[in-house]
Amino acid sequence: MAATSRGTTPVPPDARPRLTVLSGPSGVGKSTVVAHMRKEHPEVWLSVSATTRKPRPGEKHGVHYFFVSDEEMDKLIANSELLEWAEFAGNRYGTPRGAVLERLEAGEPVLLEIDLQGARLVRESMSEAQLVFLAPPSWEELVRRLTGRGTEEPVVIERRLAAAKIELAAEAEFDTTLVNTSVEDVARELLALMKVV
Ligand code: ADP
Ligand code: 5GP
Repeated sequence: MAATSRGTTPVPPDARPRLTVLSGPSGVGKSTVVAHMRKEHPEVWLSVSATTRKPRPGEKHGVHYFFVSDEEMDKLIANSELLEWAEFAGNRYGTPRGAVLERLEAGEPVLLEIDLQGARLVRESMSEAQLVFLAPPSWEELVRRLTGRGTEEPVVIERRLAAAKIELAAEAEFDTTLVNTSVEDVARELLALMKVV
C-alpha cells in the first residue's frame, strides 16, 4: 500500500472503475491535486459543476465552474439536468448529468470533485462509482491551508470548517482515503486508482 493511502479496497486488475468521486474538506487540496494530475494527464476528464457561488479571482466560467444565478440553478434542478446537487456553506453546487453520461457511455474515465452529500447521492444512483476521500495530514494543517488560500472571508472559513468536521467524520464511508501530504504522491495514487496509468 502506498504511504499516503489507508483503507484501500483492492480493485481487481481487469476492473476499470469508470466513475471516480473525489471528496474531502474544503481546503484539503482537491483542486490542487486534480490540476496537477491533469497537467500530466489531460485525458482525464473532470466534470465541470454548476454553482451559485461567485467566481474567485482567476476562476473562469465553463472551466472551473458554470457560474449560475439562483434562478438558473432552480431551472437546472427542476429540469433534472443535474446528476446530483447539494447546498454547501451557503451556495448550491451540482453536476451536469448529460456530459457525465456521454463520457461514461464512451468508456472514458470520469472524475467528479464534489462534497460529501454529493458523493453519497452518486453512490446511491451509481453503485459502480469509486469514492475517494482526500484527508489532510492534520486538523491544524487543514485550517492553515484554508486560511492561507486567502479566498474566503473569516465567516465563510468558519462555515467551511464546521462542514469539514462533518466530512472528516464520514471518511469510513469512502472506498479509499488518500492523505494529502504530497500533491505529487496523491496525484499519482489517484491516477492509479482511476486506472489511467
Ligand atoms: P480544495 O480544492 O480542497 O478546497 P485547494 O486545492 O484550493 O483545496 O487547496 C487549498 C490550499 O492548500 C491552497 O492554497 C493549496 O495551494 C494548498 N495545498 C494543497 N495541497 C497542498 C499540500 N500537499 N501541501 C501544502 N499545501 C497544499
Ligand atoms: P468550492 O466553493 O471551494 O469550489 O467548493 C466547495 C465544495 O463544493 C467542495 O467540497 C467541492 O468539492 C464541492 N462541489 C463542487 N462542485 C460540486 C457539485 O457539483 N456537487 C456537489 N455536491 N459538490 C460540489
